[in-house]
Amino acid sequence: MSRVVPDNMSKTSQPNYKVLIEQQLTGQCNEHIHYLNETVGIHKNVLQAWAEMKEAADQAGISLAIASGFRTAQRQLAIWNSKYCGKNNIKNLAGQNIDTSNLSEQEKITAILLYSALPGASRHHWGTDIDVYATNLLPDGTKLQLEPWEYASNGPFSPLTSWLSKHSQSFGFYFPYDKYRNGIAVEPWHLSYMPLAAHYEQQLNLTLLQQTIEQFDIQGKDTIIKYLPMIYQKFIVNVANNPINAGV
Ligand SMILES: [Zn+2]
Repeated sequence: MSRVVPDNMSKTSQPNYKVLIEQQLTGQCNEHIHYLNETVGIHKNVLQAWAEMKEAADQAGISLAIASGFRTAQRQLAIWNSKYCGKNNIKNLAGQNIDTSNLSEQEKITAILLYSALPGASRHHWGTDIDVYATNLLPDGTKLQLEPWEYASNGPFSPLTSWLSKHSQSFGFYFPYDKYRNGIAVEPWHLSYMPLAAHYEQQLNLTLLQQTIEQFDIQGKDTIIKYLPMIYQKFIVNVANNPINAGV
């Protein structure tokens, strides 16, 4: 396969990025990010693997694209606060809007976490994680929803799902949200670059997360801090084993 990025981006020359500084890990700076266009950025050391996977997918007739890559903590905070205050809807596993008027703060927080990461704890902060779709499989006149039915066997992205399940791992990617584990909902569009994410998973610990949240202007802060150990276990580290750590 032809190299589409220079050799100095090769996987063997990335020792500097095995550790992200805390500000990078928690989405508060973007020095580790390369922007592919105005809105989509990915980790500099994911560029090559992404380009190679995209090229292979293109050759198989799938125009692979990134709907969402790097996301700042500020962006995640805006998503969080808009759901917490009721400006945006909170959905349940069946995709129905939840009536939050009778929920406790703790219940509201766990309801939001089903689909939205806690600011500071999103894997999208790392630049290793991307939400993907196929531009040529999106039916004319429709808008990408990032909902599981689109990626299911009778959905428009079914060929993408089967291609990724066969080939993404050979480019270093896997699905951390491959199934529902009583925490985060399944996300068949969310890929993670395992060689780097394996390190960052270890670095994002509870202490760092608490220090980060305390600095944020986040709604529900006291309750989030109170239940942070539960949130960490149920919604942050409760993902598929990174195949690298699992010895695959
Ligand atoms: Zn995602």
